[in-house]
Amino acid sequence: MIGDPAELVIRHARVLDPSAGIHAVTDVRVSSGRIAQIEDGLRGAREIDADGLHLFPGFVDVHAHWRTPGREDEESIESGSASAASGGFTTVVMMPNTDPVVDKPVVVSGLVRRIERESRVRAYVSAALHMGLEGERLTEMRLLREAGAFCVSDDGLGTQSAGVLRNAMLYARSSGLPVILHCEDHTLATGVVHEGACAALAGVPGTPASAEDAATATALVLAAETGARVHITHVSTDLSAALVGFFKGRADLTADTTPHHLTLTDDLISTLDGMYRVNPPLRPERDRSGVMGALRDRIIDFVATDHAPHASEEKELPLQEAAPGFLGHETAFSALYTELVLGGELPLPRLVEAMSCAPGRWVNGSGSLRVGAPADLALVDLSESWTVAKESLSSRSSNSPYLGRRLTGRVAATIVGGELVHDRVGARFGVRA
Ligand SMILES: [Zn+2]
Repeated sequence: MIGDPAELVIRHARVLDPSAGIHAVTDVRVSSGRIAQIEDGLRGAREIDADGLHLFPGFVDVHAHWRTPGREDEESIESGSASAASGGFTTVVMMPNTDPVVDKPVVVSGLVRRIERESRVRAYVSAALHMGLEGERLTEMRLLREAGAFCVSDDGLGTQSAGVLRNAMLYARSSGLPVILHCEDHTLATGVVHEGACAALAGVPGTPASAEDAATATALVLAAETGARVHITHVSTDLSAALVGFFKGRADLTADTTPHHLTLTDDLISTLDGMYRVNPPLRPERDRSGVMGALRDRIIDFVATDHAPHASEEKELPLQEAAPGFLGHETAFSALYTELVLGGELPLPRLVEAMSCAPGRWVNGSGSLRVGAPADLALVDLSESWTVAKESLSSRSSNSPYLGRRLTGRVAATIVGGELVHDRVGARFGVRA
């Protein structure tokens, strides 16, 4: 048939969107960048034979460090978005702890322009909550919003003064911006790993879980009082997850946790390898399973990767000297599918909800396969197993804690607004043009 040249039909995919109640082997027509039709027997000018592949709404990551501006040697918008696309992510929020910090409208508008030119996926700018992320003087949130900021955040450091945090929440609320909070009390966070048996055995100074829990409690009390739209990122302890549960319904509150806090534990630090330094630190199994239960029960709303590229000279060091942080985009789905879904802890529909539907709703109303929704899609081969290797990564950095691990489930193609932005399916099946 002669049709719209921009039209694409994905045939025989196992389509799964828990938010729309879709779970069927069927065909999807994409037209003018949107989902136009979902039913059997569709044909189109361009087709992807997705026989054996799952089709999910594209994944959404509200926490990524693309190191731009300032450390484009570690990641750029081009490489960060390629990394996101190869992990099935179609929407990403960039964190503001760059060099310079994203604390002025001119930095925000510059980033927005660069995203338009350089990003393969939809990317949003998070601006800083306070000038220089120094925790004192608030940023001009109204002007940041006008310049294109999507939200404000204190990620990387947190906000040490409750008074400053309260004023920041009030200002963010009146400016119409959501707040993403990194909860960490620096008077307690004096170590480099989780304080516990593993830290003691390894002889590495630990930070007590209270460094996160006390800051989370403060943030939640202030969120309830101010009515600000607050998102707590990288929840990593059992107690912080329980606190989030307590404040659901008392505050305008959402929360995420990371793939690494859901799949790795602090016994890895026994290697003393700087690779395993991350903030918040890897926790014992009790915290991992508590956070996992909170995600399953929707107390923690969704997953965000905290994709944090670092140059090898900052990571190939002893634990105490290494920079904290892991790559996240390219292994997120595979690690969670392998460990949690195949491990019997989390049903696949809940994982898709936690990676696509829930964060999509939070950011931009994406994360759905309803007819009329933007065609942001992830095609995934759940049967493929692969070994994570530096050469397989699109990021400019290679600090993945999963290097050398064999994972099951791999993103085959990613589509943003109807365009293929990552394509391993073409090589396997061929796009019929
Ligand atoms: Zn953080």
